[in-house]
Amino acid sequence: MARTLENDIFTSYALPDERGNFGRFGGTFAPETLMPAIQELVEAYGAARRDEAFQAEIDRLAASYVGRPTPLYEATRFAEETSGATGARIFLKREDLAHTGAHKINNAIGQSLLTRRLGKTRVIAETGAGQHGVATATACALLDLPCVVYMGAEDIERQGPNVLRMHALGAEVRPVTSGTATLKDAVNEAMRDWVTNVETTHYVLGSAMGPHPYPTIVRDLQRRIGDESAAQLRTVEGRLPDLAIACVGGGSNAIGLLARFIGEPTVRLAVAEAAGDGLATGRHAAAILGGTPGILHGARSLMLQDVDGQVIEAHSASAGLDYPGVGPQLAALAEGGRLEVASATDREAVAAMKTTTRMEGILPALETSHAIAALPKILAGVEGLAGGWPSDGDLLVLLGFSGRGDKDLAALARFDDVPPWAGSQ
Ligand SMILES: *Cc1c(COP(=O)(O)O)cnc(C)c1O
Repeated sequence: MARTLENDIFTSYALPDERGNFGRFGGTFAPETLMPAIQELVEAYGAARRDEAFQAEIDRLAASYVGRPTPLYEATRFAEETSGATGARIFLKREDLAHTGAHKINNAIGQSLLTRRLGKTRVIAETGAGQHGVATATACALLDLPCVVYMGAEDIERQGPNVLRMHALGAEVRPVTSGTATLKDAVNEAMRDWVTNVETTHYVLGSAMGPHPYPTIVRDLQRRIGDESAAQLRTVEGRLPDLAIACVGGGSNAIGLLARFIGEPTVRLAVAEAAGDGLATGRHAAAILGGTPGILHGARSLMLQDVDGQVIEAHSASAGLDYPGVGPQLAALAEGGRLEVASATDREAVAAMKTTTRMEGILPALETSHAIAALPKILAGVEGLAGGWPSDGDLLVLLGFSGRGDKDLAALARFDDVPPWAGSQ
């Protein structure tokens, strides 16, 4: 099917209104000094998404540089272990095989091309684990743009290899020491830089969050994940999946996978949040299941906050999910009942990671492993999930395999005592 940007209007949440609202979430909550830049971005992106030459340039790099379309792989051994009574067949959308090892490159390249189109000559980005920093530094090397990446000093300490990668790619990594010196502080610092240097600089935000139009830009750039999956599944099975599931940090790979299916009533949509030490412990990163409405990083959405509206630090062994908010479209879809929301603890994710690696020879990122760990719960309908799946063996599951896990081998060693699922030993 032809990729169109507006063929998914089914619920009022499929697209934001002209002010960037997805239901009661989204919008623009930014300092006055940033409003001209945001308005410029709204207009420039509005034109770019309808410009065939711009889209063709993205398509060209997606194919020749990123390696798209990424494969859709049926994990049969893994499905035997996972599907339980449903007998579901499980298809992995292999974003781990995209250049730099995760879906983040899709957004980084698109926004770097947008930077050029805006006539700007400098890129900034924030990064937590370093994955978005590496993707942006990569796109900037390709397009010959100077790149500054803001990264919490704590994260720089924890993610040495990615810092070295960014340096090798020619990016400057600026340590952020304010607050807790982690991702949310890096976003604040990047926004400060943007305000100061808005004439020359585009801020390449790394997930489907932040002020309008970022949630829309990032979704549009990531939705080829779901568009490709739908086409690939149609080729091999002649139909759409019954369930599509992805892990959620800020929400870019999830909305990228799910956007195509929002308007398809036969496709159930699910996400897996990071439950860290467990939802009941308060030490988690589950902004939908454990958060409340509030304003974070320029938009209204669900977030972790205390009674005074102060941000509560997120906790997850997975650096890419360790964020106290979630993108507004996913918040709206969840609130509207279109999205089933599951979670997995650090230990459950590690067990899923070990299982997938041993059964399929594919090492998933710890982030991705949360979606894998949550899948049996969704199929079994436990922990408040709807369940009710048919068990005639004709259930097709599409799982967004957001990235590769080489970066997480040290974390894996830390959880040495966690066994893989029984059947994989
Ligand atoms: C960054 C990252 C995520 C989480 O970010 P989203 O914006 O929620 O997709 C998930 N998986 C991998 C592999 C990542 O690098």
